[in-house]
Amino acid sequence: MKRKLSVLIISILLFTGCSTTKEPINLYYAKKEIKEYFEDSTRYWKEVWRICNEAKKYAEKNLDKSKNNIAIFDIDETSLNNLEYMKEFDFGYTQESWEAWVDSAKATAIQPVLELYLFLKEKGVKIFFITGRHESKYIKDPDPTIKNLNNVGFKNIDGVFFKPRTPKMKTSEFKSQIRKKLVEGNGYHILLNIGDQESDFWGEYPGKVFKLPNPAYMTF
Ligand SMILES: [Mg+2]
Repeated sequence: MKRKLSVLIISILLFTGCSTTKEPINLYYAKKEIKEYFEDSTRYWKEVWRICNEAKKYAEKNLDKSKNNIAIFDIDETSLNNLEYMKEFDFGYTQESWEAWVDSAKATAIQPVLELYLFLKEKGVKIFFITGRHESKYIKDPDPTIKNLNNVGFKNIDGVFFKPRTPKMKTSEFKSQIRKKLVEGNGYHILLNIGDQESDFWGEYPGKVFKLPNPAYMTF
């Protein structure tokens, strides 16, 4: 009888929408988990190596030398790792602190992506970086992003497209516009495109997509 009664009460609660709701993960633990994930060779790094090795295999198989081949590389959390900045500001963000970090040119290489870069260069594929970063306000020749890329091993860079400060536009729109220009204006063939955000691939001519993990932030 008691059992029947409790089943009846639970059914009424569920039916009337009085069931308990699940609390989201506490932000402290979410940040802790993300930090640990980015430093974990068995999770984040293993996945990045796997995807880059897949990209190499794809390039090997699909490289048509009669085409003017290029590859599109994103920069942040694709070619360069900004975990030091994220940790320093506890996953916070201000335009000022971010630009100071970019100007410091202290980001480290994402090694599997660097190896993919060197592999593609050796095959004669040109690589263009398209980034939501702006050119530095204060430091020129070289721009700190180019200096940073060079210092960590991305040598002989074919081109970096920085998002202009004006007019204001979404990073995804900017990236799409550049790819369209490269293909329709310059006659390039996009062999592959690697980035850490879904929005890196929105719009025109995404090419063959290789998406790296990034649970820390999302850009549009
Ligand atoms: Mg990125």
